[in-house]
Amino acid sequence: MDPAFYQIVMEWLLAKADAIIVLCVYALGFYVLSLFLAEPSQSTKEENFSKVHTDKTLFYKEFNLEIGYFLLNLFITSFFITFISATLALIVLPAIAPHRIFALEIQSWPYEIQFALGLLMADIAFFVPHWLVHRFMWRFHAIHHAAKELRWLTSIRLHPVDAIMFSACGYVISYFIGFDGQAVLMAITVHNIYNFFVHTNINLAYPAPVRYIFVSPNYHRWHHATDKAAVNKNIATMFSFLDLICGSYYHPEGKLPKSYGIARSSLEGALPKTFWAQVFYPFRIRRKPAAKKTNQN
Ligand SMILES: [Zn+2]
Ligand SMILES: [Zn+2]
Repeated sequence: MDPAFYQIVMEWLLAKADAIIVLCVYALGFYVLSLFLAEPSQSTKEENFSKVHTDKTLFYKEFNLEIGYFLLNLFITSFFITFISATLALIVLPAIAPHRIFALEIQSWPYEIQFALGLLMADIAFFVPHWLVHRFMWRFHAIHHAAKELRWLTSIRLHPVDAIMFSACGYVISYFIGFDGQAVLMAITVHNIYNFFVHTNINLAYPAPVRYIFVSPNYHRWHHATDKAAVNKNIATMFSFLDLICGSYYHPEGKLPKSYGIARSSLEGALPKTFWAQVFYPFRIRRKPAAKKTNQN
């Protein structure tokens, strides 16, 4: 075998092993966190620091499905993401925007400022594709919302097309803003962990005024709620003020949603339950639904 090819394969395998190890570390961290939480009371009231769903085992009902999306995106989708990012970075974006907005200035700013603005940039780079997939690619994004219970792993329950959209759109936004460097990389990592955190099986809301600045796990629960008033609300992952600015803020005080999922969508009942059938479902030719269920696509 050509040594250069052998080296590329080894580096690819090491990167994948790295991602799996990181996921195992998260799994351990969130498992330890769950040990400190009280069992759910089955009420729909906010009771900070209890569980929302009963956790008898680490391998909850849809664990296999959600880990399936992680592995599919890690081994297959990542090829497309790498190809699209490289095309954007090397060919498309330099032709459109030779000067990135903050590319030259950012490195001279204090590390803390770079980090804080990096977090904001990461959330904007997540907010925009998230808003778009809710309006224009619901068939793909519905797979994330089909979860009937939220666990930290639900955060990476993404259809490959949804994952590509998030990556490509996020990449374009980050490129235009021009943030780069160690502090921003750290901010993106923290933002990713925060995304896991807001999907955790924990009943936790923040008091005012923090709830108007940061997204809490209960805040994101309303994003997954089946309540009519919550449809297409709470798009932000970290900064709830982005939703306040965009008119998509919804967080009733003291209450938890009654149920989660896509019950208000015409896809409810049609979306297959098994992994591969679910992956291919959004590509199927659309047949007119008998009756439109709601305003959620
Ligand atoms: Zn969503
Ligand atoms: Zn979510």
